[in-house]
Amino acid sequence: MSDPVIGVLALQGDVREHLAALAGVGAEGRQVRRPEELADLDGLVVPGGESTTMSNLAVAFGLLEPLRAFVAAGRPVYGTCAGMIMLADRLLDGRPDQHTLGGVDMTVRRNAFGRQNESFEADVEVSGVAGGPVRGVFIRAPWVESVGEAAQVLAVHDGHTVAVRQGNVLATSFHPELTGDHRLHGLFVSMAAEARGTAPAAA
Ligand code: GLN
Repeated sequence: MSDPVIGVLALQGDVREHLAALAGVGAEGRQVRRPEELADLDGLVVPGGESTTMSNLAVAFGLLEPLRAFVAAGRPVYGTCAGMIMLADRLLDGRPDQHTLGGVDMTVRRNAFGRQNESFEADVEVSGVAGGPVRGVFIRAPWVESVGEAAQVLAVHDGHTVAVRQGNVLATSFHPELTGDHRLHGLFVSMAAEARGTAPAAA
């Protein structure tokens, strides 16, 4: 079978770093800026960056509803940091005009770690990722305040949930794309490869 094709939402944020991480785990990465570019993907990454800007640009590029439909269809999506915020069904400390895509039955608090400590690194044990903890890079990072029954907590740091999975959707507060450790991208690409054939091929 051909390599999974994974889009990276390329409106804003650390797109290049995600493309490099995806290449490192044998996926074909593609930048996505237009609704029609969602059609042939096996999965989509929503990068780290600034969720309010990403929300504004998603509206400006006519991508908000197509992205919501992509997630709602059960197609694989991985969000890091701002990307996690975008995947939250409920958001705390967002801007009043800020939109999310939803997809995970969780309440995310934006900039939650940021207020205490703008940026830090910590070893994080992630359930489903073998081989010891990953190095979590947290930059004005959100945390997950609570999850509903459908969502599974994969990692906790300092008592706060920092990685979750619900069906084909994965989200982390931290940025594996900024480290040389691509195990979370590996996990996501294997989720996408598994979903291939079971999920509809077009949005
Ligand atoms: N604080 C940012 C936001 O609200 C997220 C930061 C990040 O992605 N590193 O979008």
